[in-house]
Amino acid sequence: MTGTPRIILHIDMDSFFASVEVREHPELAGRPVIVGANPQEGKGRGVVSTSSYEARKYGVHSAMPISRAYQLCPEGVYIPPHFPLYRQASRAVMQILSRYADRVEQVSIDEAYLDLSALGSFVIARRVAEGIKAVIRGEEGLTCSVGVASGRVIAKIAAGFAKPDGLTVVPPESAAAFLSPLPVEKIPGIGKKTARILHGMGIFTIGDLAGADVQKLIGRFGRSVVGLQRLAQGGDESGLREFQESRSVSREVTFDEDTNDEVTLISTLEDLSRDLFTAISEEKLSYRTVTVKLRYHDFFTRTKARSTELYRRDQRTILSLSRELFAELYSGEKVRLLGLRLSSLKGDVSGQKKIDDFLDTS
Ligand SMILES: [Mg+2]
Repeated sequence: MTGTPRIILHIDMDSFFASVEVREHPELAGRPVIVGANPQEGKGRGVVSTSSYEARKYGVHSAMPISRAYQLCPEGVYIPPHFPLYRQASRAVMQILSRYADRVEQVSIDEAYLDLSALGSFVIARRVAEGIKAVIRGEEGLTCSVGVASGRVIAKIAAGFAKPDGLTVVPPESAAAFLSPLPVEKIPGIGKKTARILHGMGIFTIGDLAGADVQKLIGRFGRSVVGLQRLAQGGDESGLREFQESRSVSREVTFDEDTNDEVTLISTLEDLSRDLFTAISEEKLSYRTVTVKLRYHDFFTRTKARSTELYRRDQRTILSLSRELFAELYSGEKVRLLGLRLSSLKGDVSGQKKIDDFLDTS
């Protein structure tokens, strides 16, 4: 690449749901706040959605069973999620970001990429990143962590490098040195399985990966590993992805008690479709695919999906398809969890957080 460098900024809001709750209830500042399922004094089911940094000190983290969180932090402030509130905060943040770049790719409710190449230099990009952080703090009362690099992958690693309220700028000439000491697991897309294989080859840090014998790597992972090694050496020119159609939104409910009461199950399905419809309407998205997930009392889990010919924006189709799929899936046994997902989404600003760019490890 010649001329001006590509400059990509990644922004990740800090403990987003918990931070929004604290903003709404300032008396919670400094306390361990845990957004998620009702812990019911340790007997509750479902999981932690987000925890504040104070709660993380107790070992609480996202996706942990809420009962475990309660064991670790019984004095925590447990709050059920208020999605409309988080979506509103998210829209406000994305609106702020759109003032700084023509191109913003939102990848989740609290993460986005900006293309700042037009600024022409990493020094100016750092100043802009500081400005973005200050404006989000001033207007929205929220903190975020930001990474700036020559491509989206290193920008994301950089954003994760100093949390919360961090800013890490990695110009191309210092990318290799920045990445070198970090564990290979820091590369998005390298999961436990790939990490284990790499460790078996004596590769623990990104620097190890950068210096590894490429033929050996290819022998183990195939040609796609060449791009991964180039990344490890600091080469990342991956830009924004726009107008992709692979996003999805989903909701699920874990029942307090397993149930085979069809009235309860169907009305839960209706609640979920209403909530998903609100979510896509607010983001002006249309969908093509509806998926129902059923987990039975014995954890046996079944999913079934159906797609429509054309993109839809209505709630009625979500309802009718999910009822149809439910009827086809449901065995009459007691259900522990019911979930609903809309995918093949299309909208104004879109793009899926796709982390398996380099390896196909599944
Ligand atoms: Mg976040």
